[in-house]
Amino acid sequence: MGAQLNPMDYVVGIDLGTSNSVVAVVEDGAPVVIPNKGGYTTTPSIVATSESGTRLVGHIAKRQSVTNARNTVFAAKRLIGRKWDSPPARTVQQSCPYTIVEGPHGDVRIMMRDQVYSVPEISAFILQEIKLVAEQYVGASVQKAVVTVPAYFNDNQRQATKDAGRIAGLDVLRIVNEPTAASLAYGLDAKGEGTVAVYDLGGGTFDVSILSIEDGVFQVISTAGDTFLGGEDFDERVSGWLVERFRELTGVDVRQDRMALQRIRDAAEQTRCELSTVTESSVDLPFLYTMPNGDTHHLQETLSRTQLNDLTKDLVDRTIQICRKTLEEANLSPRDLDDVILVGGMVRMPLIQESVTKFFQREPCRGVHPDEVVALGASIQGTALTQGSTDLLLLDVTPHSLGIMISGGYFHELIGQNTTVPTSASHIFTTVRDNQTSVKILVLQGESDKAAENELLGEFILSGLEKAVRGQVEVDVTLSISADGIVSVAARDLKTGREQSITVTATSGLTEEELSALVSQSHDYMLDVKKNEELERAQLQVRKIVEEVEALFPEVRDVMSGTSFGRDAISKAEAVVERAKQDLQGSDVRALGEVQESLDRTLSMFRGVVTKTKLN
Ligand code: ADP
Ligand code: MG
Repeated sequence: MGAQLNPMDYVVGIDLGTSNSVVAVVEDGAPVVIPNKGGYTTTPSIVATSESGTRLVGHIAKRQSVTNARNTVFAAKRLIGRKWDSPPARTVQQSCPYTIVEGPHGDVRIMMRDQVYSVPEISAFILQEIKLVAEQYVGASVQKAVVTVPAYFNDNQRQATKDAGRIAGLDVLRIVNEPTAASLAYGLDAKGEGTVAVYDLGGGTFDVSILSIEDGVFQVISTAGDTFLGGEDFDERVSGWLVERFRELTGVDVRQDRMALQRIRDAAEQTRCELSTVTESSVDLPFLYTMPNGDTHHLQETLSRTQLNDLTKDLVDRTIQICRKTLEEANLSPRDLDDVILVGGMVRMPLIQESVTKFFQREPCRGVHPDEVVALGASIQGTALTQGSTDLLLLDVTPHSLGIMISGGYFHELIGQNTTVPTSASHIFTTVRDNQTSVKILVLQGESDKAAENELLGEFILSGLEKAVRGQVEVDVTLSISADGIVSVAARDLKTGREQSITVTATSGLTEEELSALVSQSHDYMLDVKKNEELERAQLQVRKIVEEVEALFPEVRDVMSGTSFGRDAISKAEAVVERAKQDLQGSDVRALGEVQESLDRTLSMFRGVVTKTKLN
């Protein structure tokens, strides 16, 4: 570290959050967060399609979310890698103003203006925006990235996140767990050593990890979490309360009105955030609902911090239960910890700070920025990976047990929860029928004895087995988990030693064909975006010179119309301006460039004439 990076080596750390995304890069040996065009270090993870069909991402999408609620997608991360028939999909379907539909592989798809998108595509739109932000900052193309995910994400969710990166044109070097990334930034920054707990509560997910940090070795001891618990659930409680109050006062149920509901949601979040600093806050939504007869109803309520705490206390308690569980897994008591790191926007809520302080029996560390620390850590890891640094070693664990389904529908665990990754384990399958030539293997993740209660990662079919009496063919199946937490399967015929071919049936997400089509689609889109930017820049420049030239015309005419040479020059200049105005209507960047040259010449001639007359 320390040396100037070759532009080709830029590797960014991306915290692709449920609510906000953040990007960081290591500069002169120190990680820095990159601000977006608006100067903000966080970009809302919101995507929308405007009425004219334009794709909007980030703040610009957030600002129009009330008037265009149906076509504005927020918190898509809650759906990534999820199956259509999962409880989260149902919850989102009931509570979100945008529409979700079932995808061709039992996955969830999202609609914006009658167009159906896979969830990785929506995430890719956010990543593309983040990539642009980074590229503008470093002044070069950015291809490599380390992307973070909640520690408790399963394989399907991780794969889908990796797919999102690929669609966005990023080479995702590594998927890193968010709390682990946070600990990296903490450890390197505060030179913290010892055993720490990272409590990360964001917009949609909760994670807690216990780590030991020593001499640049970051070893996760245990991790636990809930990938469907976050600020969104707190908002839901406050919105629910507001909807109920409105119904009590007016008799109207506003849940059917998407725009009104989105206004309530917005107000709920705003009030909730305000209550982190004040003890009472008011909600004011004039003209919230118009009755069929034209009467209008306003919503005016006051919410106190105590009321908010009552509405959400069980959610906070759930996070504390999970902390207890992960400490037990690590065989530690709160007193064994040296520090507690708070991450995520939600940790600004006083009730959370109090509960965490009480449970861990210590004041949490004040030195880390809860919004930025994850991206900073990801950029540190990215730089270490590209520079082959040996000063830093990250040893993470798998959050879920991995195994296969065995007869009777039972789950047979091969790799236990909280095992350090990368790791692998094998199991020997035998044929159960004579002349059986194929075996189907169901690979699952989860903690239940019953296979059906765990997450199905894939169906693998081993085919081309030798024909033999049952029980004679033995196939060794190896399940591996990479440092990204991503699962792969390999199989070998024990007698012949031959690698066995495996067919994977997609159980979620996208097929390879769909994925590569999306990769090229998004590549074209980015070329368009860049072309548009170029066009806008060219138009701006031409417009500016036209104005300057036009401003000088009266004076130039005064001086030059006396001679035929002068009159000729003036009409030539008029023609150039006319052509420029025409080119400004079109979208030909090259024509604009050419006309700009002519305009430049005209302008310098005009300036020459004007200064000369002034000198005379
Ligand atoms: P994610 O990592 O999931 O994108 P963030 O860490 O950005 O999420 O946290 C976003 C959540 O934090 C939102 O639910 C937001 O309402 C909440 N939040 C932000 N600021 C505050 C605050 N001052 N008080 C309470 N909650 C806050
Ligand atoms: Mg986060």
